[in-house]
Formats: sequence, C-alpha cells, structure tokens
Amino acid sequence: MIAIGVPAEGPDEPRIGLTPETVKKLVKAGAKVTIRSDAGLRSHFSDEQYEEAGASIAKSDKDAVADADVVFTVRRPPVDLAKAMKKGASLIGMLDPFSDTDGLEALAKTGVSLFAMELMPRITRAQSMDVLSSQSNLAGYKAVVDASAAFERALPMMMTAAGTVPAARVFVMGAGVAGLQAIATARRLGAIVTATDVRPAAKEQVESLGAKFIAVEDEEFKQAETAGGYAKEMSDDYKKKQAELVAEHVKNQDIVITTALIPGRPAPKLISKAMIESMRPGSIIVDLAAERGGNAELTEPGDIAEHKGVRIFGQLNLPGQVPVNASSLYARNLQAFIEPFIDKETKELAIDWDDELAVGTAIARDGAIVNDRVAGGKTSSGGKAS
Ligand code: NAD
Repeated sequence: MIAIGVPAEGPDEPRIGLTPETVKKLVKAGAKVTIRSDAGLRSHFSDEQYEEAGASIAKSDKDAVADADVVFTVRRPPVDLAKAMKKGASLIGMLDPFSDTDGLEALAKTGVSLFAMELMPRITRAQSMDVLSSQSNLAGYKAVVDASAAFERALPMMMTAAGTVPAARVFVMGAGVAGLQAIATARRLGAIVTATDVRPAAKEQVESLGAKFIAVEDEEFKQAETAGGYAKEMSDDYKKKQAELVAEHVKNQDIVITTALIPGRPAPKLISKAMIESMRPGSIIVDLAAERGGNAELTEPGDIAEHKGVRIFGQLNLPGQVPVNASSLYARNLQAFIEPFIDKETKELAIDWDDELAVGTAIARDGAIVNDRVAGGKTSSGGKAS
C-alpha cells in the first residue's frame, strides 16, 4: 500500500500539497495518507477534515514523512526533511529546479528521488497536472483584483444622473495563462482591456476574450513561438519597435498587468522608468514577473514601489494569496500525477521511469541529479522549462 506524507510548509507559504478532497480520492485509490497537524490551516483545511477524508495526523513533519513512499510539498523543503524520509522515497513539489543548484544537489544527495512539477511536459495528457497553469491562472485573477482594490477610481463605466464615470483602461502584457485570466477578470469588472504578446497565437485568444491586441506584427512576430508554445527572445530591432508602440500605448493606461516570461531567462524589461513617468498619477502596475526580476524597471520584488504617483506592485506568490483555490488545484495536479503510478493490483507505488511525464519531471534519483536541463543550469538564476 502506497504511503503518502504531507509536511507543513514554511512561514511564507500558505498553500498545502493535499486537500481533504484529494486525500479522499487517494485513499480510495489505495493510499495511506499522513498529514502534519495544522498543515492545512492557512488554506482553511482542518485536521478534522483531513481525518474525515481518511488521513492520519502526525505531530511533526518528521513523523508525517518518515514512512512515506511519496512526500508532497508546495515548495522545495529543507534538506532535513529529505533526510527524515526513507532512502529512495519520492519528493514531489514545485522544487524551483533552476535556482540554488547547490541546495538542490544537497537535497539530491539524501538519496530521495526528486520530481519538479514545474517541468511537467505541456502535452495533452499532462494538462490536469500542469501546476504552472493552475497557479498562474489564479495569479492573473488576483493581480487584477489587487489592482482594482488599490486603484482609487472605478473600473466600469457608470452612467449616473450626476454624470458619467469613465471606464478604466487596463493593459495586460504577456497573454499566457496568467495574462488571459487577467484579461478575463478585467473585462468582467468592466474595464477597457488591451493586451500584448510576442506570440502570434496569443492574438486570437486575446480577441476572443473581448480585448484589443496591440503588437508589432511583422515577420519576426509570426515566427516567435517555440514548439512548446513558449515565447522566444526577440531581436533588438523587434524589441525597439515594440517598445515604441508600447510606450505610446502605456501613457493612456490606468492599470498595467505584466506577466511576460521567457523560459530559462530573466523576465524581459518591458516598462521603462520613462514609461512609468508618462503614466498619470494614481495609475497602477502589477508586475507578476517580479519573482524573475520583473517586467518593469522600478519593480521591487516583494514590495510596492511608488514613483511620481504611480504604484508598482511587485508582490511574490500571488497564488498563495488565494490559498484555498490554489491548494485545491495544486493538490488535484499532484493527485493526477501520482495516481497512474499506483499499481492497480498491489496498490504499491510503481513509478514508470520511462514514462514521458516521469522523465520530464524527475530531477534526482539515487543521490544524483538526473535531469540534463537542471544539471546544465548550474549558473542559471531561475527559469522554467521550454
Ligand atoms: P509564460 O508564463 O512563460 O509567459 C507568459 C507570457 O509572456 C507568454 O504568453 C509569453 O509569450 C509572453 N511574453 C514573453 N516575452 C514577451 C514580451 N517581450 N512581450 C510580451 N509578451 C511576452 O507562459 P505561459 O503562461 O506558461 O503560457 C505559454 C503558452 O503555453 C501559452 O500558449 C499557453 O496556452 C500554453 N500552455 C499549454 C499547456 C498545455 O498544452 N498543457 C498548458 C499551459 C499553457
């Protein structure tokens, strides 16, 4: 019988790796689940709910993971947690595989197998396991909600007897998963929404959400997508043309949400100080790329910066601010990933190491890093798979 353990996360992480709903499903699939007491509290899941779902509650993280074949975490845990696990057991979470490579190696050396959910191949079969999508979607939503709460004006147009309140203008830069949800949320709140991206496929998606697409659509733009559906680094010439177009557009925007990322690279700088200065006081920028350096020149990761009346939100971990939904979706991603690896007859863990999903996400086994991209990323400061 497969044993699954879930420790508590660190103080900055309100999400948790399993929810009572997913515990119930895993127990039904034959698993024995142990959760560290109070680990779900910040996502509003109580020990009683976990017990009702069929989990046991452990007093310490060590007790939660000691007998587990699989440990689910949200973030990369400290090495001590891996040391408390059985040799050869699997640790599955968002392990941030391209940063602090030394820390990752130390974790690998404990002999625990490591799986980084961020590296899930973006193929149809793995859509339900795609943590980048499930979490970015909530980040896009929260960015708009935060911006509208901080914006000292209304978003929708209102026609009143005392006159008309104009609709706010929201510009979304980067129309991937987070950006598309930001567009949809801003549209629902009644804003006039425009968006940009360097991938041609984004144009139709932006327009289908009722927003206007703004981009330099030259020959380079038409080729600007990798086979995996990600953005490519653009030429200096393209960047200059696009920056001119964006500079003209940004002047008249009230809220700018930036989400632009290129796998394995620092976030592209899209909003210069001069552009920020061209915006009206009271305007707001929410920089969802803050974790990777930010898309705006004045972003302070983890903080709110203010420049000439324009506020730039650089908060980290926006999905963690919607922890109930973020944990629910994340836990379903984990459940979807592990269930096919539970043997139907014996109910034991049976990882198929040749399976495309295991190959893509496994980063360490038997004490060594086994993923070429991760091993080669020793000097990289952060990024995602392409
Ligand atoms: P991401 O987080 O890597 O980047 C966010 C967006 O920023 C992307 O749309 C990217 O094109 C854009 N961007 C990069 N540089 C830019 C620049 N200079 N200016 C403007 N925009 C820029 O992307 P993501 O949200 O992970 O999504 C990337 C693609 O993958 C999307 O097409 C998405 O639909 C697709 N996807 C596929 C699957 C699947 O098949 N399982 C799952 C999720 C996402």
